[in-house]
Amino acid sequence: MGAIDLHCHSTYSDGALTPAELLDRAVARGVTHLALTDHDTTAGLEAAAAAAAGRVRLIPGMEVSSTWEETQIHITALFLPRQDARVDEFVAAQRRRREERAQNIGRKLEALGFADAYARARAQVGPDAVITRGTYARLLAAAGAAPTADAFFARYLQRGRPAFVVTEWPAPGEVIALVHAVGGLAALAHPRRYKMSNPRLRRLLQAFKVAGGDAAEVCYGQQRPCEREFLAALTREYGLMASAGSDFHLPGAWRDLGWQLELPAGVIPIWSHPAAAPYAFPATAATV
Ligand code: AMP
Ligand code: MN
Ligand code: MN
Ligand code: MN
Repeated sequence: MGAIDLHCHSTYSDGALTPAELLDRAVARGVTHLALTDHDTTAGLEAAAAAAAGRVRLIPGMEVSSTWEETQIHITALFLPRQDARVDEFVAAQRRRREERAQNIGRKLEALGFADAYARARAQVGPDAVITRGTYARLLAAAGAAPTADAFFARYLQRGRPAFVVTEWPAPGEVIALVHAVGGLAALAHPRRYKMSNPRLRRLLQAFKVAGGDAAEVCYGQQRPCEREFLAALTREYGLMASAGSDFHLPGAWRDLGWQLELPAGVIPIWSHPAAAPYAFPATAATV
């Protein structure tokens, strides 16, 4: 059976491949169903759908930034309509926040001695793409500011570090309401990457469910098997469906499209929901 991958990035946010290159890679890797989920933008979906035609089922998606209890979380919005004014309006507001934040991070980096950080980031991604902290980390690590993007991120960009900027993103309930209003589904992205204690992660899953959230990602890149079992158990406990997505950004990193994304037994795949029906997913028995 081909792989299902419901989370990845293109050059419209902080991915290294254009939508067309991404789709070629998906085909080469045996991915049958791919969701493009760029950060706070749907700008790449049209090109992705065109490149997918007849080869891969392309699910329109977006990775939405949200704030829960002063912590930034990511919500993967899936099965979005191809064109919708409500989505466009929401994206425009997210992109304004992102742009202001990118400029503020740039100013802090410039004060730390990284000349023209914002202008260089903008020049690298082009006028239509979203700049993320990952954009800065990769750009400045490549310029020699740190041995790896990870190291640059840890030193300057994460919470508590000197170029961190607090951003007020919409609350999960607001994001989920928008996604549902347009017929999509909302999954909590990479739940273990927020560096939360287990009790706090449980409170997040509970709050996400209460806010109307549909699923949580159980499989994503760079995970130990025991973590998947833990997340699978949490989806059952909180009545959420399970999603799977590589969060692929660039070739050569320790993640790839469609790689090790098979959901463990005993969860309800998000693609068993009626909203996924138009995409002809393989029938998967929800084993309980
Ligand atoms: P943002 O949504 O702007 O806060 O940026 C989040 C993005 O930064 C993620 O999607 C990754 O692409 C990137 N990122 C997160 N953690 C790291 C890290 N430790 N090292 C390098 N890039 C990272
Ligand atoms: Mn990213
Ligand atoms: Mn993310
Ligand atoms: Mn992502």
